[in-house]
Amino acid sequence: MEFKPMSGREFPRFSAVKTFFRLPQAPLSENFDVGITGVPYDGGVSYRPGARFAPSKVREVSSLGRAYHWGRGVDVFAKLKVADIGDCPTVPIDMKQTYEKIEKYFLSVLAADKRFVAVGGDHSTTLPILRAVRKHVGEPVNLIHFDAHLDTYPAAWGQEYHHGSFARHAVEEGLVKPASMVQIGLRGPLASGEDLDFVKKNKITTVTVDEIRENGVGATVAKFPKFTGPTYITYDIDCLDPAFAPGTGTPVPGGLTTYEVQKIFQALKIERLIGADVVELSPPYDHSDISALAALDAVFEILCHF
Ligand code: MN
Ligand code: MN
Repeated sequence: MEFKPMSGREFPRFSAVKTFFRLPQAPLSENFDVGITGVPYDGGVSYRPGARFAPSKVREVSSLGRAYHWGRGVDVFAKLKVADIGDCPTVPIDMKQTYEKIEKYFLSVLAADKRFVAVGGDHSTTLPILRAVRKHVGEPVNLIHFDAHLDTYPAAWGQEYHHGSFARHAVEEGLVKPASMVQIGLRGPLASGEDLDFVKKNKITTVTVDEIRENGVGATVAKFPKFTGPTYITYDIDCLDPAFAPGTGTPVPGGLTTYEVQKIFQALKIERLIGADVVELSPPYDHSDISALAALDAVFEILCHF
């Protein structure tokens, strides 16, 4: 099997069956390096739903996905064998069952010696993925977390697990190393100042949009902890300003631009990326696929880190 995107010269970009980056769909038994997969679940959202439709939307806009990274001077799909591995099974009306299915699914991906990018899904889906990663690598991992929100919030409506609490659980369950965890794109308003207590107590590196604007991308990224050893990236699309990503569940004004995010990705130094996800894209709230294309672009920048 050849892991090359379908040619836009042979089959125009608006044609053909939609897969991530027009790559072949392949079973885990095939010989490739990185699988892109969908996690269509949004049962953990507290406000606007719709992220369950993100995997199929990102496949659709993958018509405009291209292989050559100009800034890096690299043809990504020439250096790396990437496949669309289909979607993770989910249960739309049951989070507990969904969490079990997600953990089992990503354990099978990792056991097949594949690295992956998961296209969510709301941010509650990251926790069972991190559980699988932690089990597979046998140690807590570094976490690079793009988000407007801290996602360290307490239980909501009596429910511990929702899209705003994955980061707290990941720290409390020992899935990630707080000393090499960075949160990028944060901004207010918060529900209260106490929301910051958890990240301060655990000495997590937090990076606000203000800091990035005042100090620039290069100086900001230079101050990050070193990402040696196994690392995971979770990219919540609401790190972007709603002008750049209106299609999301809980938009926060005053965010990053898609260009700033590209520059941050290009400045990051990651020794060993195990997996990544792109979450919180809600296509029903999008306009002209602005947010979906930004999500696709994040997947592309992530692929460059493998
Ligand atoms: Mn989030
Ligand atoms: Mn968020």
